[in-house]
Amino acid sequence: MQIEYREHPEYPSLRTFRCEPLRADLSPASCARNQQTEKFLTCRASPIGRAHSQQCGPQAAAIDETGKVFRPVQPARPCVRCGVAALRLIRQELCVSCYNRQLELRRGRNAKGARPVIVAKRLHPARCLVHRDGNAELLDLEFCSGREEAAAIVKRRWPTAHVADYEQLSDRLAPRARSPKRRTTHPFSIRTALPE
Ligand SMILES: [Zn+2]
Repeated sequence: MQIEYREHPEYPSLRTFRCEPLRADLSPASCARNQQTEKFLTCRASPIGRAHSQQCGPQAAAIDETGKVFRPVQPARPCVRCGVAALRLIRQELCVSCYNRQLELRRGRNAKGARPVIVAKRLHPARCLVHRDGNAELLDLEFCSGREEAAAIVKRRWPTAHVADYEQLSDRLAPRARSPKRRTTHPFSIRTALPE
């Protein structure tokens, strides 16, 4: 792909090229911004736009003459728990639905006021051994659906790290499981309390 650049007669530092689809003289950066903000349909799929986008890196949002703001398009990313691609992820990890279910579990009741049973079976506290840049460290997760999710969380937080070991902790240790009954009823205390 050959792109012909011209120097602007009045601003020699400004290089432009002729964009035929838009019938305009553009700088590589404004072409990149058009591509990233998908300002025009033709910009999204344009190979020249992609090349400029790679070359110039992420561009800031643009505002046109009418005041309309064009923000760079954020790619949808998968939720680390359910895998559904979403534009909005809470803490860059959970989709809104998974986050709400987790909140209900922490509170101990769902929107109907009942104990969340299904999600309680699925989520557990977990401890991971994470290898990152030559170091090993422990990562505790309050709620996790399994090793796959733990691996996705670690990759998202630290792209160069990986989970070397994963352990699902007993629900008894989870903060949410501290119902008065479960905490105070120790098997030995029951036995000693029984009459001989
Ligand atoms: Zn989700």
